[in-house]
Amino acid sequence: MARPQLSLVIPVFNEEDTLPELDRRLRDLFSNLVQVGDNWEVVFVEDGSSDNSRRLLANMAASESRYRLIAFSRNFGHQFAITAGVDRAEGDVVVVMDADLQDPPSVVSEMIDKQRAGYDVVYGVRKKRKGETWFKRATASIFYRLIRAITGVAIPLDAGDFRLMSRPVVLTLRALREQHRFVRGMVAWVGFRQTAVYYDREARFAGATKYPVSKMLKFAIDGITSFSILPLRVATWLGVFAAICAVGIGAWAIAVKVLGLGTVPGWTTIMFAVALGSSAQLLMTGVLGEYVGRIYEEIKRRPLYIIEQEINAPNHGDPAPELASRNP
Ligand code: UDP
Ligand code: MG
Repeated sequence: MARPQLSLVIPVFNEEDTLPELDRRLRDLFSNLVQVGDNWEVVFVEDGSSDNSRRLLANMAASESRYRLIAFSRNFGHQFAITAGVDRAEGDVVVVMDADLQDPPSVVSEMIDKQRAGYDVVYGVRKKRKGETWFKRATASIFYRLIRAITGVAIPLDAGDFRLMSRPVVLTLRALREQHRFVRGMVAWVGFRQTAVYYDREARFAGATKYPVSKMLKFAIDGITSFSILPLRVATWLGVFAAICAVGIGAWAIAVKVLGLGTVPGWTTIMFAVALGSSAQLLMTGVLGEYVGRIYEEIKRRPLYIIEQEINAPNHGDPAPELASRNP
């Protein structure tokens, strides 16, 4: 079987209300996508949903052999679902897209045009974000600017995981097996020729966001700590600052004593110094713990995800050989 020209990778978590419409829109997309003809596949990665998503996807795969299904044994999270899809996609180009139709399938055609014009990565940049709360928009906007400023990796502003990648980028990405995954940062990091297409982000078709604040926060911490050790360096600067203060306070205490200006028991100063010192230490122990914890998780070398079931897997192959050691 020839390699498909296009693989769409779609992570799915509790999207039963969206899947029928997604199916319709995909069929619509492929009937109009002249660039690839019939030569495409869709890799749905079902991320341990608790609703009917898996059954619906299995039905869809039964009626369309180019729909593939990879089902996880539990919920591993959006970034891992994307990873599994990208690991197993066969296409010359791979496009990652959300299931909730916030990323309009019609943009895919524009992405393919850019790729044919010589780009390896084409990412979707959101011009407008419909149906999202001001809180989500504000935190997203701060987050992208912050992460760009402190990580030094040119992660594009206001781009999600909706993007096209050429085969060389996909193969490079497969070699990055870190546990804390911030896929959009990793794609920016690999380099190659990258460009953007602009689109209006639609409102979610149905259901609620699968990214509550707790998941968003974890995502943000992963994004920053996997690309920067700056938080760790803050410890050094704070230490230097505390040392300078200590020298100053010490000199002042001696001067007061020597000049006989009255040695009132300086408990205010002491309290202040103790409070400052201990809070700085606690904070920095926490930061250290973040990184030490990460080292621990990396050395366990666990597989990144566990596949329970696979439907319509291409029959000519095992997963890419470079994965054999890490993802059975
Ligand atoms: N998703 C997933 N696993 C999760 C959470 C989300 O596979 O643990 C999928 C979800 O089904 C959707 C995509 O990731 O296709 C993006 O999630 P969502 O739309 O909830 O995020 P938002 O657009 O609100 O940032
Ligand atoms: Mg969404």
